[in-house]
Amino acid sequence: MELLTALGAPDQDRPDAVTIDGRALSYDALLGAAGAVAARVAGAPAVAVHAAPVLETVVAVVGGLLAGVPVVPVPPDAGPAERRHILRDSGAALLLAAQRQETADIDTAEVRTAERADFTGAEPAAGSTALVLYTSGTTGAPKGVLISRRAIAADLDALARAWTWTADDTLVHGLPLFHVHGLVLGVLGALRTGSRLVHTGRPTPTAYAAAGGTLYFGVPTVWSRVVQDPSAAKELASARLLVSGSAPLPAPVFRDLEALTGQRPVERYGMTETLITVSTRADGERRPGSVGLPVDGVATRLVGEDGEPVPYDGATVGELQVSGPTLFDGYLGRRDATAGAMTADGWFRTGDMAVVEPDGMHRIVGRASTDLIKSGGYRIGAGEVENALLDHPAVREAAVLGAPHEDLGQQIVAYVVADGVSERELIDFVAGHLSVHKRPRAIRFLEALPRNAMGKPQKKLLPPL
Ligand code: ATP
Ligand code: MG
Repeated sequence: MELLTALGAPDQDRPDAVTIDGRALSYDALLGAAGAVAARVAGAPAVAVHAAPVLETVVAVVGGLLAGVPVVPVPPDAGPAERRHILRDSGAALLLAAQRQETADIDTAEVRTAERADFTGAEPAAGSTALVLYTSGTTGAPKGVLISRRAIAADLDALARAWTWTADDTLVHGLPLFHVHGLVLGVLGALRTGSRLVHTGRPTPTAYAAAGGTLYFGVPTVWSRVVQDPSAAKELASARLLVSGSAPLPAPVFRDLEALTGQRPVERYGMTETLITVSTRADGERRPGSVGLPVDGVATRLVGEDGEPVPYDGATVGELQVSGPTLFDGYLGRRDATAGAMTADGWFRTGDMAVVEPDGMHRIVGRASTDLIKSGGYRIGAGEVENALLDHPAVREAAVLGAPHEDLGQQIVAYVVADGVSERELIDFVAGHLSVHKRPRAIRFLEALPRNAMGKPQKKLLPPL
């Protein structure tokens, strides 16, 4: 089984090869347990896994992969409607859940129904599909993304090269196991490189500080909590790489991490559909606000509204398009959406807006659908305004969007989490950083921004200003 070549290698058979929340397995033990799962699920059209942060989730996922059955991770905190949507949409024949987990919220009737489900109407996953991962649902209903074994292998090998990730590393993270970041990069990446994996159950600064890793993965909210806990942050000074991904890492968090740990974080950008796309290399420059260069084998291009390439001048915004072996195989059961996501010449439209510097470094400025503000004839990336607000020492979080406006088309409004600063002061502050047409016209103070389990801001849930 190509994906798992590193599994069970004799020199890798440490008793604590994979540790989750204090419970550990050797590779041999993992492979044995996964083999038993594989025998049980063989021949199923797909198998769903209740993806709680426990060892059994890894065993179940590896078991599905060994059996060649598409694995569908289900978020453990998904409500009944979301769970039913994923089970029906994916055509999963079984829902595997760890017995020792609090599965009280999973109706055993539901598990049995899933076992007996009638799959007519659900498009069977393609033969090569390893995983059906549901997108985060930031811009619409979560879509089932078909991910092949080949794409995972290409992705993990490119990543191992970019980060010089080897069997000598210990990867630490506490991210959800139903998303590309925690599961594909964070679990399968460790298995493929043969490194030790320590999953902390939850991604808290104290758990990260105690784990003693060489590589740490986090989403920006994790790093923002780490820098608020300086004694925990200092424990990470001896790590080899601190990696941030899944959402923009605010420049102030980047700088605080460097100040506290002596490490400039590595930022990577990707999505469920393309896995890793762009990342800082371990030996490359690490620049705040930049996600680096395309990984080996992946090509990117920036396209303007007219479909023409835009210049790599560090200023012109375009849509980022991707091609390469890490691309997904389509959205499950959504032929129109799959076709709509590709250009006529075979590139994937990410829906993200980016700027590329003359030296090739990529900056993600936001999503075309929610973060591109068209105001008074200007095209403004919300991220630029958010970063200017975050530069104020009192501002902890910021989200900016365009609200309908009679004259301007849209006007820029901001939501911030901040202590001891007034709207007037903040507007004056950003005036020193941004040209007139990029300044927010109104600012609302919130206790916290609405975020999902991956720490992604949910702009559609912001209250009206
Ligand atoms: P949906 O597609 O269902 O609306 P989603 O796009 O949030 O949800 P994911 O595939 O989990 O689902 O997230 C990918 C998106 O996350 C990217 O398209 C991009 O907008 C954002 N993203 C990921 N990494 C970064 C990063 N380093 N900087 C900025 N944005 C990022
Ligand atoms: Mg998306």
